[in-house]
Amino acid sequence: MIPLITKDSKWILTEEGISEKTIKQNETLFALSNGHFGTRGSLEEAERTKEYSHSEATLVNAFYDSEPIQYGEWAYGYAEKHQTVIPVPNGKKLAIKLDNEMFDLDSGKTTRHKRQLDLKQGILTRTFTWENTKGHQLDVKIERFVSYDYPELLAQKITLTPHDNGCELQVAATLDDLEHMGIVSEEESNDPRIKAQQERRFQSERIESSENQLLHIETNNTHLHLIVGEKNELSDSSVKSSFINGSEKWSMETSKDKSVTLERYVAYGNIFNDGSKKEAEALRISNLLDEVAELGFDEIKEKHIHFMEGFWNASDIQIDGDDEIQVGLRFNLFHLHQAAGRDGSRNMSAKGLTGEGYEGHYFWDTEMYMLPFFLYTQPEIAKHLLNYRFTILKEARERAREMAIENGALFAWRTINGKEASAYYPAGTAQIHINGDIAHAVHTYVKSTGDLAFGMNEGLEILVETARFYAEWGHYDKQRNGAFVLNNVTGPDEYTAIVNNNYYTNLMAKHNFDYAIEMVEEVFKSNDTNGEKVLEKINFQPSELENWKKASEKMFLPYDEAQELTMQDDSFFHKEVWDIENTPKENFPLLLHYHPLTIYRYQVNKQADTVLAEFLFSDEFSHSQKKRDYDYYEAVTTHDSSLSRSIFGVMASHLGDLDKAYGYFMDTALMDMTDLQSNTKDGVHAANMGGTWMSMVYGFGGMRLVKDTLHFSPRLPKEWTAVTFKVQFLGRLIQVSIDHEGSDYTLLKGEPLNIRHYDEEKHLK
Ligand code: BGC
Repeated sequence: MIPLITKDSKWILTEEGISEKTIKQNETLFALSNGHFGTRGSLEEAERTKEYSHSEATLVNAFYDSEPIQYGEWAYGYAEKHQTVIPVPNGKKLAIKLDNEMFDLDSGKTTRHKRQLDLKQGILTRTFTWENTKGHQLDVKIERFVSYDYPELLAQKITLTPHDNGCELQVAATLDDLEHMGIVSEEESNDPRIKAQQERRFQSERIESSENQLLHIETNNTHLHLIVGEKNELSDSSVKSSFINGSEKWSMETSKDKSVTLERYVAYGNIFNDGSKKEAEALRISNLLDEVAELGFDEIKEKHIHFMEGFWNASDIQIDGDDEIQVGLRFNLFHLHQAAGRDGSRNMSAKGLTGEGYEGHYFWDTEMYMLPFFLYTQPEIAKHLLNYRFTILKEARERAREMAIENGALFAWRTINGKEASAYYPAGTAQIHINGDIAHAVHTYVKSTGDLAFGMNEGLEILVETARFYAEWGHYDKQRNGAFVLNNVTGPDEYTAIVNNNYYTNLMAKHNFDYAIEMVEEVFKSNDTNGEKVLEKINFQPSELENWKKASEKMFLPYDEAQELTMQDDSFFHKEVWDIENTPKENFPLLLHYHPLTIYRYQVNKQADTVLAEFLFSDEFSHSQKKRDYDYYEAVTTHDSSLSRSIFGVMASHLGDLDKAYGYFMDTALMDMTDLQSNTKDGVHAANMGGTWMSMVYGFGGMRLVKDTLHFSPRLPKEWTAVTFKVQFLGRLIQVSIDHEGSDYTLLKGEPLNIRHYDEEKHLK
């Protein structure tokens, strides 16, 4: 049995006792967030018991600091600055004293320690009994949630029930702005997947104008501002608090079995650039704290549960026949939902808001892995995520100019503010497929939602600018009969870098051209005034259409006729095959044990590359071609990247190998719970979580969007009896139920529509 998963619940993760082995990882698994901010599942007393904590970080999405990247040897166009999301004051810190003895896990005796994350309700609960050295006992219950109704709010309720009369009970709640959390150890700081910064990155001051505790913080270099506020309510109002060194403290005498509760509200406001707005934001946060305190914990908790019900109604996937994997699957959906920025100006980082890994950066992970889940369950969130890309078009255009491309835009490989933050261009800027990934997401969004308002505005501009970039990056190669080639690129597989004609990149670019052509032609056909304005604004020339058509038609897609294999790139098959089988286990992931040039000399993949291309455009390849390519590339893939297994799993479903698909699915769905990549402590693998959803819906459900129609070709692994999921498509809500006898499609909402089940057309009404 997987730690945390118990037989009795399909919704609840349970940690019994505390183990130094799992506590750091569980800090990540128990993290709570809402797209605006997130806070790790650290213990309230974590700073006193370091062995029970990795990082207490609370992170506000896109609240980052920046400093110049120091290069030993610089070259033109290298990324200039780091962007690092930084932990903000920790609002979970709590001290409990009984008879003047401070509670922590190392003092006295703690029994019945249990934490439960209720995925259905979105609430983390911790309970235990503490006995101090004098033998006096206290039952402690702490509930915690991060609100969606009040996106700034972390709500906590602490219930203390003494077993004895007449002891002195003291409680102190601290909004900790002094210590920088999340510092990684010396030896870990070499891991390129972490790179948390060591020093404190903001200045703070207390704002005295309010009854509530308010802190104003400002980052050192980016000068981003944030107000953090706190308000506490003790159930026994006769006990007055005192403020000492940023802590609010209460002291009282215990009465046996009489509980005292502390309701604790901590708010993380909006990020702002203009320091003069400080007072106004502080007032807003203070009012918010008053409002929620007036309502009380139980009432806002009810609201929160109601919100979560709405989420699950739209997004749940039910598996019959395996309760363990049911909760495992829900865990992934829960975290995906928690991670997405919802304001159109912030995105979803590779670790969500659950840890400092990857510095809070946004990658292609969003469009290719996480976005499909939102697109088909909560399309409005998908739109916000795409809108973020629109907001950074300016920086993407500037980046294209730096790359000596005169027209169009190149999106940064990893970023928060739109500028390139990857200091290693071979596995960074060279991944120009990110343009095609974003274009693909825009196109799929418009096709699946029918949202032409977006398509003819933001969508159109993105499609044209990304296509323009490829048109200039590539050229017609005389040596290849005038085929259109894209040289010096890196595909998704980061173990192969700076190659010519990466198949995935070329195919994405080809489709990028096609999407741009389709949308521009739609503007002309429908005389859409919005679209016309956009084209005028970006100085679109009709000759561009012809250029793109030619480039798309002549796009070079490398193929090895002799082996009948799709080539990952021009040179892949010229390399020696890496001996994966005889590589010592401890040398994985290879990136931590071999120089990049060593890895690049071999046929060895970190993650799905050609197979990803064939999964995305499955209908463009014959079954036998996909099968041959799958077998070939699977054998040279290490899955060192968490973005790999889900794709191989989906493809195995398409190829009808359900045992293999099931195996990959189990690894995918349980990746963070089993710490498969050995770094869950740094944050969840959000892209893989999106891959979990894709494995269910695209894999076992066989769902594909072909032109304007949803196709399904369901296949159920023998281990399960039934699967049910819902998808939103063109304003409809469709429920799909699959069992071993067949499949049922029910239109729950919206106008009748046709779908395809294998080769059969079905009319849903
Ligand atoms: C993967 C990339 C991914 C990044 C962030 C890397 O290990 O190779 O494809 O974008 O992690 O998740």
